Amino acid sequence: MNGLPARRVAGFGTTIFTEMSALALQHGAVNLGQGFPDFAGPAFVKEAAAAAIAADLNQYAPMPGTPRLRRAVAAQWEHDYGRTIDWQSEVSVTSGATEALCDVALALLDPGDRAIVFEPAYDAYVPDITMAGATPLPVQLHPPTQSQANWWFDADELRAAFEQRPKLIFLNTPHNPTGKVYTRAELELVAGLCQEFGVIAICDEVYDRLVYGNAVHLPLATLPGMWERTLTLNSVGKTFSVTGWKIGWAVGPAWLNTTLRQAHQWVTFATATPLQEAAGAAIEQAAGNGYYAGLQSEYTERYTLLRGILEGVGLPTLPVEGSYFISADISALGYHDDRAFCRWLTTELGVAAIPTSAFYMNPAAAPPFARFCFAKKLETLQAAGERLQRLRR
Ligand code: PMP
Ligand code: GLN
Repeated sequence: MNGLPARRVAGFGTTIFTEMSALALQHGAVNLGQGFPDFAGPAFVKEAAAAAIAADLNQYAPMPGTPRLRRAVAAQWEHDYGRTIDWQSEVSVTSGATEALCDVALALLDPGDRAIVFEPAYDAYVPDITMAGATPLPVQLHPPTQSQANWWFDADELRAAFEQRPKLIFLNTPHNPTGKVYTRAELELVAGLCQEFGVIAICDEVYDRLVYGNAVHLPLATLPGMWERTLTLNSVGKTFSVTGWKIGWAVGPAWLNTTLRQAHQWVTFATATPLQEAAGAAIEQAAGNGYYAGLQSEYTERYTLLRGILEGVGLPTLPVEGSYFISADISALGYHDDRAFCRWLTTELGVAAIPTSAFYMNPAAAPPFARFCFAKKLETLQAAGERLQRLRR
């Protein structure tokens, strides 16, 4: 028996999130690594799921998703961005944004095709592209400088990537791991290049409700000329603090939904019916019950607390405009190997974090930063803060 794995997966290690969560568990560390809330999702959302199960909505959902969730997503988009969405042809439900990302790669990329990713890049993008046999084209997001208040990219470097004739660009805003929210000017630049070079945009907007201060989330799809060539991905995990539900969706023109469904029908066919119903109910109710404003203010408090803790122990933090992650510059304490630092922090100090280099194709090119997740109870953050005091010595 030839038990060798297929070439498309042979080079994959274990995901950094799995690795660091296992290490955190093993050492009893406070886990600020893998991004997930340690607090409960809202009662109105959990009750909707229990009610859907009790109502026997427990058989296969329609392949493109339940009407209730697709209608809710369409209505929300219409409300937020003023565009009428045909829920039947322009929304598709997937098993989290993760499945949608994989479907997109399988359904749109052929061997030999190229796809742009901004680096640091959420860890699934490059494997999805390579599993489709295509080649990732990384474009660097550079850390903030004296003249650049946040992570930024060089317009010439981006144009050079477009000149390599990619088929797709993956864009994540608010961005994991940096917390960057792309500005209108940056999105206009991307939009102009997509149209000039005939490129399709895949926008991962799973943190769209987690935006702080003056930052404003703007979907690329709403810019002139972009609807027809953009698929926008989202999910309930972060917005409703239920990352285990894995209910996601894609919004975009009918042709891109049709294409995505070509892969989706063979990857999962359909995803959990009662959780789709509950996700629909959650979106319907959140529109009118003040949930999003509450979420934002709670997250602002968590972010402010963790930033203060990190700064207080001598770890300078980078600005955060969105997401539930904050990065700290470990070189200030004399550390340069972020992977070794995060392992040491987990095993010796009892606080888990994620090395930024895990989000780079060439880890050696990464800046020396560690990513901390603040989707945690205030007491969890305080407990981490107590352990981190040892860094001061
Ligand atoms: N994209 C980004 C940027 C993420 O941080 C995550 C979080 N896991 C995902 C996609 C995956 O989302 P989901 O849990 O809905 O599959
Ligand atoms: N998105 C989460 C993070 O960035 C992790 C998701 C996962 O474990 N696959 O931490």
